[in-house]
Amino acid sequence: MKYTFACADIGMNCGFKAEDSDKNKLLEKIRKHAKEAHGMSNIDNATLEKIQKAIKTV
Ligand SMILES: [Zn+2]
Repeated sequence: MKYTFACADIGMNCGFKAEDSDKNKLLEKIRKHAKEAHGMSNIDNATLEKIQKAIKTV
C-alpha cells in the first residue's frame, strides 16, 4: 500500500503528483514542493487539512 497526492486534488493548477509508502515522507515531499513551487514556506492548517483529505491510499 502507498499514499498518493496530486496538487490538482486541492484545486491547484499544477501537475505535481507524489507518492510514498510512508505518509510522513509523503507530507515532507508535499511541503518541499509547496515551498519550491508555490512559495508556501509554511502550510497553514486549513491547507494542511485539505492535503490530508486529498491523500489517497492505493
Ligand atoms: Zn503544486
